[in-house]
Amino acid sequence: MTEFYDLAEDKMKEECGVLGIFCPERASDIPFLSYLGLLSLQHRGQESAGICINQKGNFKIHKGMGLVENVFKQEKLAGLAGEMAIGHVRYSTTGSTLAANIQPLLISCIKGDLALANNGNLINGPELRLSLESHGSIFHSSLDTEVIAHLVARSFEENIIDAFQQSLYQLKGAFSMVALTADSLLACRDPYGFRPLVLGRLGNGYVVASETCAFDLMGAEFLREVEQGELLIINKEGLKSIKYASERPGRFCVFEFIYFARPDSHFLGKNVHLARKAMGRELAAELNIEADLVIPIPDSGTAAALGFSEESGIPFSQGILRNRYIGRTFIQPMQEIRDLKVRIKLSPVKEIIKGKRVILVDDSIVRGTTSKQIISSVREAGATEVHLAISSPPVKDPCFYGLDTSKRKDLIAREMSPEEIAKYIGADSLTYLSHEGLLKSLDADGTGFCTACFTGEYPLEVKKS
Ligand code: SF4
Repeated sequence: MTEFYDLAEDKMKEECGVLGIFCPERASDIPFLSYLGLLSLQHRGQESAGICINQKGNFKIHKGMGLVENVFKQEKLAGLAGEMAIGHVRYSTTGSTLAANIQPLLISCIKGDLALANNGNLINGPELRLSLESHGSIFHSSLDTEVIAHLVARSFEENIIDAFQQSLYQLKGAFSMVALTADSLLACRDPYGFRPLVLGRLGNGYVVASETCAFDLMGAEFLREVEQGELLIINKEGLKSIKYASERPGRFCVFEFIYFARPDSHFLGKNVHLARKAMGRELAAELNIEADLVIPIPDSGTAAALGFSEESGIPFSQGILRNRYIGRTFIQPMQEIRDLKVRIKLSPVKEIIKGKRVILVDDSIVRGTTSKQIISSVREAGATEVHLAISSPPVKDPCFYGLDTSKRKDLIAREMSPEEIAKYIGADSLTYLSHEGLLKSLDADGTGFCTACFTGEYPLEVKKS
């Protein structure tokens, strides 16, 4: 019988990516620039993609399930033009996989048209939805974004931008959002700044995006990050900044640095690749093991393994290769090939590994579902010792701020000590980077970041499941 194998890695899932452009002088290029921006943000969500373009107040939207390159064929982009646009790539953190849940979301209300795209998770989303429904609102999707659209539509403010700002006061949780009105591009970030949002310059116009890597491909210049609790209104009058929330301690998601963000992006003045290398260096400083090779589990462990190798003096080697062309596949299960799911994706190189004591480096373990198979295949390739080194602390608590973690009970580090996990996955040892080491590698003093999935200390109260 043919079986469907989901070859998902043992990682927290990327959340979403958002993009906004206001550049009337490049009106005919806006569709293609949006496409390029979303291509750069593809790692943040591969489930669906969408672009909404505003041409003199007329909104055109195109969205679909799948990767950016599949949703936006040449003919879909040709003929589109507009002074401004927003775009979105999605991995569902809330709301199931439904066509109705693809963003941007476009609504028409008495105040005008509004297109919205969001990255994050509203802690009070279900509560707001219930209250809106009890007052007659009808929902078409399970998106938090639709909750915001209803708040705008029902606001007593007549002007749509004032209504949008007023809706922000009611939101609790993580959100980095872009929106289009008839004449403006809006961009805002929640008061804690959980999820990233950056501002750039494009000619005489502006762009906003989840990550700076989107600017590089679009030819835009990075200006600054959108601040916590800041609302930007961008239109032909220029850029207006409103601090709609009072100052709170920054709680930027530390996992953006550990795993999610693209290595060429930068946040808080730090390049992501270099930050990951620094985590690897700290890990090496904390771990005193003799070995012959440092091998990354590709691709997520590569930067940390480079840093580990530099600090420890143990040679770095690409001893495990990754097949880049496989996501999900149909395959005939074969008893005679053990650990087939992992082997389809990762191949240890016998000639590099045989007879060596190896330190495998990865950025995180969430459920521990693949580590056992990876270690078994590295042993089978001839390694004499296999030590696993993780460049972040143990993930013990789920995320409520826009990322898809497993349920609390499925998090392996919650149930077992590092020694127990090492035994379970068949490693000679397992070492995690300490919490202090993580903060040190980011030059942080414990403030400025959310680290709740390691500590269980949630900056914003959540209902623990
Ligand atoms: S709980 Fe973890 S994954 Fe979620 S925002 Fe905080 S650091 Fe990021």
